[in-house]
Amino acid sequence: MSGEPPVLEARGVSHAFSVGGGLFRPAKALKAVDGIDLTLRKGEILGLVGESGCGKTTFARILLGLQQPSAGEILVNGVPVGSLSVAERARRIQPVFQDPYSSLNPQKAIGAIIGQPLRVHRLADRAGTRRAVAEMMDLVGLPARLAEARPSQLSGGQRQRVAIARALIMRPPIVICDEPTSALDVSVQSQILNLLLSLQSELGLTYLLISHNMAVVEHVANRVAVMYLGRIVEEAETSRLFAAPGHPYTRALMASVLTPEPGRGIPDMHLGGGFPDPTERPAGCGFHPRCEMRLPRCASVVPPFHQVDGDRVACHLHDPISTD
Ligand code: SF4
Repeated sequence: MSGEPPVLEARGVSHAFSVGGGLFRPAKALKAVDGIDLTLRKGEILGLVGESGCGKTTFARILLGLQQPSAGEILVNGVPVGSLSVAERARRIQPVFQDPYSSLNPQKAIGAIIGQPLRVHRLADRAGTRRAVAEMMDLVGLPARLAEARPSQLSGGQRQRVAIARALIMRPPIVICDEPTSALDVSVQSQILNLLLSLQSELGLTYLLISHNMAVVEHVANRVAVMYLGRIVEEAETSRLFAAPGHPYTRALMASVLTPEPGRGIPDMHLGGGFPDPTERPAGCGFHPRCEMRLPRCASVVPPFHQVDGDRVACHLHDPISTD
């Protein structure tokens, strides 16, 4: 693997929105994504976790080329994504989103939906598309008889299988899975996660798995990046992260898994404050108003990354030369 560029790389990626402006009120800048550096290595599953509103989905849209970053760049196999045609990009990187129903045309038959990318990009004739669709349906566990059904006739789990088959029909090496099981019944979630895992090993895929659910990420990912207010605050091998989380925010996220409603964000009882207004980013460490371990400098100095057992944590507690 040495010498090979990462399959996907974000370098200093930022994205700001203008929100809330009115007749007598100036618009505020919301920095949804703020200087993210992240690499995805071939064949791995990188989990990206954080509460709703932390910028995960904006970042995913930038990776997919659906949104332009305000700064920074995305490289696919070392090539700037902006230099690829839409078709080239679609062949290299595909999404699987949370709610398959909203992305499936209710008027179309399942077979036509799955084969659509091949037709749009003129990659196969009619017979070739039919063969590829049958193969994909088999691969994702959809009975062949459903090829003529409409999305409304399928269960939630079957619809997500359709979305996965459509994403994979061009055999892209990279898949961005954005909350792929959040809209599904609990009983179906593990089936879809296990399907994603078996497809990953069978087809040699690389995943970025975006989730607010630490239990899902622990089950599936090799490595985890934790995001807070548009920035990565910790990145580590999954086993290390779950055995010894280095960032107080990561610890709080883990505590949230133990609450009756996992995934509803961090319960305030663990932190003494709700998720902040992203347009009013606190100075210094963005997490300091909620952090029980904050140091005097946390309110004014942005913590740089510190190396911890080969992983990285943006927290002053890991500064080897502490001045507090
Ligand atoms: Fe808490 Fe300070 Fe670390 Fe931020 S830098 S997580 S406020 S200890």
